[in-house]
Amino acid sequence: MNTIELWQAVLGELELSLSKANFTTWFKSTFISEITEHSLTIGVPNMFTLTWLEKKHAREIIKSVQEHTGGNIKHIAFRVETRQIPAQLVPVVGKTEPQPVFIQPQEQPTQTPKDFFTEQPSEVQENRTGEFSLNGKYCFETFIVGKQNELAHAAAQAVSSQPGGVYNPLYIYGGVGLGKTHLLQAIGNELLRKNPNLRILYITCERFTNDYVSALRTGKMNDFKNRYRMVDTLLIDDIQFLGGKESTQEEFFHTFNQLFQNNKQLVFSSDRPPKAIPSLEARLSSRLEQGMMADVGSPDFETRVAILESKCREKVYQIEHDILNHIASVVQTNVRELEGALNKVIAFHQFKNVRPTLDTVKPILTSFQPSSLKKNITPKQLIHTVSIYFDIRIEDLLGKSREKKLAFPRQIIMYLMREEMKSSYPSIGNELGGRDHTTAMHAYEKISECLTGDEKLQHDLELIKQRLYTA
Ligand code: ADP
Ligand code: MG
Repeated sequence: MNTIELWQAVLGELELSLSKANFTTWFKSTFISEITEHSLTIGVPNMFTLTWLEKKHAREIIKSVQEHTGGNIKHIAFRVETRQIPAQLVPVVGKTEPQPVFIQPQEQPTQTPKDFFTEQPSEVQENRTGEFSLNGKYCFETFIVGKQNELAHAAAQAVSSQPGGVYNPLYIYGGVGLGKTHLLQAIGNELLRKNPNLRILYITCERFTNDYVSALRTGKMNDFKNRYRMVDTLLIDDIQFLGGKESTQEEFFHTFNQLFQNNKQLVFSSDRPPKAIPSLEARLSSRLEQGMMADVGSPDFETRVAILESKCREKVYQIEHDILNHIASVVQTNVRELEGALNKVIAFHQFKNVRPTLDTVKPILTSFQPSSLKKNITPKQLIHTVSIYFDIRIEDLLGKSREKKLAFPRQIIMYLMREEMKSSYPSIGNELGGRDHTTAMHAYEKISECLTGDEKLQHDLELIKQRLYTA
């Protein structure tokens, strides 16, 4: 791993623990300027950033660097330095949102915090509205389709082949890190690919709101209106932020109507359906609902594996199938975390220059264990889930018969009680019809052993856990 890769890995990690705005503000245009055996110097664009990072983030940075390098680096320093970062080297690890790429021009005078980034798009395309808004990385080719996102994906494709047609507006909603931004951007990129002259505006709702407020303040309402009402396609991300912002909602309403009446395509994303956005005017939520609504859900195990495979191909890095299965079974929440976990695994092994094995990968993933999800499961729910999964009656599972068709699922229950609920062996025995604790111990050991190398069993357990936690 060279310094650029190391820094990417560190940034990828930091990004997971910071708000987007925070991350962008403080970490864009930073890089490793010098590295020796025990110390690291980070180049930052100005004094303002330097003081802030030193005060607030030095400790996290050093911790993360140590994790990736094996602990030799003990000191960290910052210095003001600018460097032209080629587009492909701009941090992309665990990227949460396509941002304009900010590159610090070489001879930039001292700046105020507000304007210290100069937009110089590179991986971002410029279109006729002068917006640097689309990131080519987010396209349909790199989007993996599974059951939980196929509707949203199909709708997004339909919109790109016939903008302003039947699916207007298109409203995509779902939890964080599930590909909403990716789809919005893919629509923009695809439209632009077909017709580079189209005026496509991708923007976050926050930015829309800020623009509006500053247009009000500076008396430049006409500019604002021209900017938003003259586009061919308007893509607004995270529209739930309109909630409670009355005057912005009013302006948004007029923008919406004008574009809609002119058959311009509108696409929105949100973390919830329009009606569930608090303090959103009824006339707006009914407009948002009137076209096509599509949700995205958490990817299932197969899709998670497919996503990991595709990301490995993208990164030209090979990982054995059972390891990908393992990552997919540990990281269940969303695609962003999945990517973060994969990046962490790759960075670690590239740096150590060893091939990933289950033993080296497992410790890296401990922070991704969905332990917070696990506390509410009861033995009854677990037994019930396994009974349905294998289509076996609960009485039979708890009963005396040792028939293989019953004994195996029973052992799976005991294994999961231990693994997922941390139950003691005596209480596991108890829950399963008053069996001895040694039976529970034996079951746990047996299933643990079988798991290595038995893909079908891994898959069964994965699906059972999925049902258990999403029920
Ligand atoms: P959201 O906007 O829903 O919070 P993003 O679109 O930012 O999520 O997705 C988070 C990350 O996961 C991005 O890097 C994105 O490319 C990736 N991602 C999400 N869904 C998929 C998918 N189905 N296939 C491939 N990558 C995906
Ligand atoms: Mg998003």
